[in-house]
Amino acid sequence: MIGLGRQFHGSTCAKNASPTMGNMAMRILLLGSPGSGKGTQSSRLQKNFNLGAISSGDLLRRNIANGTEIGKFAAKEIERGAYVSDNIMIELITNELRTIKRKNWLLDGFPRTINQAIALDDNLSLTGQPLNLVINLQVPEEVILQRIMDRWVHVPSGRVYNLSYNPPKRPGLDDVTGEKLSKRTDDNAEIFKIRLQKHRELTEPLLEYYSKRNMLVTFTGSTSDEIYPKIEGELLRRFGVENFNQGRRPEIVNEEANNIPLNDVN
Ligand code: ATP
Ligand code: MG
Repeated sequence: MIGLGRQFHGSTCAKNASPTMGNMAMRILLLGSPGSGKGTQSSRLQKNFNLGAISSGDLLRRNIANGTEIGKFAAKEIERGAYVSDNIMIELITNELRTIKRKNWLLDGFPRTINQAIALDDNLSLTGQPLNLVINLQVPEEVILQRIMDRWVHVPSGRVYNLSYNPPKRPGLDDVTGEKLSKRTDDNAEIFKIRLQKHRELTEPLLEYYSKRNMLVTFTGSTSDEIYPKIEGELLRRFGVENFNQGRRPEIVNEEANNIPLNDVN
C-alpha cells in the first residue's frame, strides 16, 4: 500500500505533534484495508471520546438481518466481495448522518470510492461541518488474513470478537446480550482476496484525495493495541482533552508511556 500523508511508526508520534486546535469538533474518517482494525479502533474511540459513529458495513449487515430491500441487494454484493453501488451507499449514509446528534463523530467504511467521497464532501459542506481528519490504518497483509479467519461478530451491535485475542466470555455468545455471534459471509480466504483487490483499486485512491487536502494521517502497526495509543495521542493533541473521557484529562497523553492493555480484534 502506498504511504501518503504523515506517517507514524513506533514512537515518533509525539515528536511530530501538530498544534492543538482546542475544543474543535471531531469529524473523523477511518480508512484502512479490510481487517485493518477499523471496527476495533472505532469502538475504543467511542468509549474514550464523546463520539457518535457510523459503520457502513455494520449498517448493511443490520439491513441484511432485518430483511430490508437494501439488505437483500447488499447481501449478494457482500457475499461475493463486491462493493454496494455508490448511489445506494450515498443515500444510506446521508440519511444516517442526519440521525447523529453529537457534535463529534466518526465514519468507518464510508466513503470507500472517490464518488462517495465527493458526495460526502458536498453534503457536509451544506451543513458547514466538513470532515477534519482522515485516519489511515496501515497493517501488514500477512497478519490480516488470520484475524479475519478468527473473527466473529454480534450483528445487532457490530461488536467484534477474535478467537485468539478477544474471545467471548461464553463461546459463541455476545458478552453483553448473550445473543448468538455469527461469522461474516465474506470472512473467508477466497472472498478476502477479492475484497483486498477491490480496496486497492477503488478505495486506495482516497489516500491521495485526502492527502492533497492535508487531512490524512497514517498510523502503522501489526496490532490494534500497537496502533490505538498513537491515534489517541494524535487526537488529544489536535482536538484537546475536552472531548476525552467526559473532559477528564488523562494522566498520560504520550503514547510512549501509554501502555493500557487492550485486546486486539479487527
Ligand atoms: P473490515 O470490517 O474487516 O474492516 P471491510 O472494510 O471490508 O472489512 P465492512 O466495512 O464491514 O468490511 O464492509 C463489508 C462489505 O460491505 C464490503 O466488502 C462491501 O461489500 C460493503 N460495503 C460497506 N461499505 C461500503 C461502501 N461505502 N461502499 C460500497 N460497499 C460497501
Ligand atoms: Mg469493519
